[in-house]
Amino acid sequence: MDNRYDVIIIGAGPAGLECAKQLDHTNLSVLIIEKNEIIGPKLCAGGLSALMNYFYIPEDKTRSFSKRIIAINNKYYNETLPSAVRTITRFDLGQYQLQQIKDSETITVLTNTLITKIDENKISTSDNEEYYFKHLVGADGANSIVRKHLGLKSGHNIGLYFDIPVVTNDFIMHFYPKQLKAGYVWVFPHQHYTNIGVCFNPKAVKAKVAKEILETYLSNNGYRISDAVMQRSSINYVYRGCFFRNMYLVGDAAGLALKGTGEGISLAIISGKEIAKKILNPDYKAHELNTFLRIKRKQERLLVIFELFPFLQSFFFKAYLYTIKYYNLVKNKFGIIPLHTKF
Ligand SMILES: Cc1cc2nc3c(=O)[nH]c(=O)nc-3n(C[C@H](O)[C@H](O)[C@H](O)COP(=O)(O)OP(=O)(O)OC[C@H]3O[C@@H](n4cnc5c(N)ncnc54)[C@H](O)[C@@H]3O)c2cc1C
Repeated sequence: MDNRYDVIIIGAGPAGLECAKQLDHTNLSVLIIEKNEIIGPKLCAGGLSALMNYFYIPEDKTRSFSKRIIAINNKYYNETLPSAVRTITRFDLGQYQLQQIKDSETITVLTNTLITKIDENKISTSDNEEYYFKHLVGADGANSIVRKHLGLKSGHNIGLYFDIPVVTNDFIMHFYPKQLKAGYVWVFPHQHYTNIGVCFNPKAVKAKVAKEILETYLSNNGYRISDAVMQRSSINYVYRGCFFRNMYLVGDAAGLALKGTGEGISLAIISGKEIAKKILNPDYKAHELNTFLRIKRKQERLLVIFELFPFLQSFFFKAYLYTIKYYNLVKNKFGIIPLHTKF
């Protein structure tokens, strides 16, 4: 029957598209289902840390920065990076990933299709279509229906941002430990605009406070937001596993985004790749994913301390910034940039 597949992937974000790509040229039939008509666009700042340097993304789609500015309570520090950070718009990233699977003979991409129900071996759409699977991959983001079906709780950070139609040149992260706890204001310059926003944990910081900090930052720095629309979305950081018999979670659905920075694109891609390998070989040990999980756990332990004692965050960052002038020791130890991660 036409509606039976070896693997069904719900969600054509970075995790789902990478998973599909890894399953291409195998003997598995793959269906990837996306609720939106166009693949790519998603509320996101599009910042790519050094973790993304392990994946090829065409240079002309990104802007690259060899230096990051870290500001603590409006005091600025330059961080020279061992590997550049980049920015990309989510439309470009999605379309690039889609291009890689578009001629596949075994992958079917279905857009404009919302999955509303999950059963043991079948899923249903809002139009009452049913599709049967041997393996189901939940790549459906921070509010995943697959995760809900598995009965797993989530925990969300919030991101508020504006796309300002001005081209700027500095990649900046501003920390205000007292007001934002472990959250921060970001300035990510893109090719034709600048994405400026605030990431915070709603359990530690009120949305009203975060919004005021963002708006004050914008006005103090001369950005006019009268024509820009504030966007708001959530990031799931609670990891409870990826493998559940014939169901798998990847990316934000698995809670893989980093709680501190909200960075999730690289972890989405890594998990999509690893889960595909696991489907192909159930004995596969997912080493890359485990490496990143260790980094995530270390960072989260630090964040608990920062949320309880915000002044320690200033102290930590200052010590970190001074130390990296001479050593890579602190970076490696706390996984801020995992220099020794091999792929
Ligand atoms: C405000 C904000 C800023 C961020 N900035 C950054 C950043 O700068 N850098 C970074 O690395 N990360 C950032 N992130 C996190 C990043 O966006 C996510 O971690 C990443 O998109 C996760 O990829 P994914 O493939 O798991 O999920 P998503 O990109 O969310 O993709 C999930 C896909 O599933 C589809 N879908 C969902 N439900 C269904 C359904 N029921 N049926 C069919 N389709 C469905 C969605 O339409 C979507 O296309 C940010 C997040 C937010 C909210």
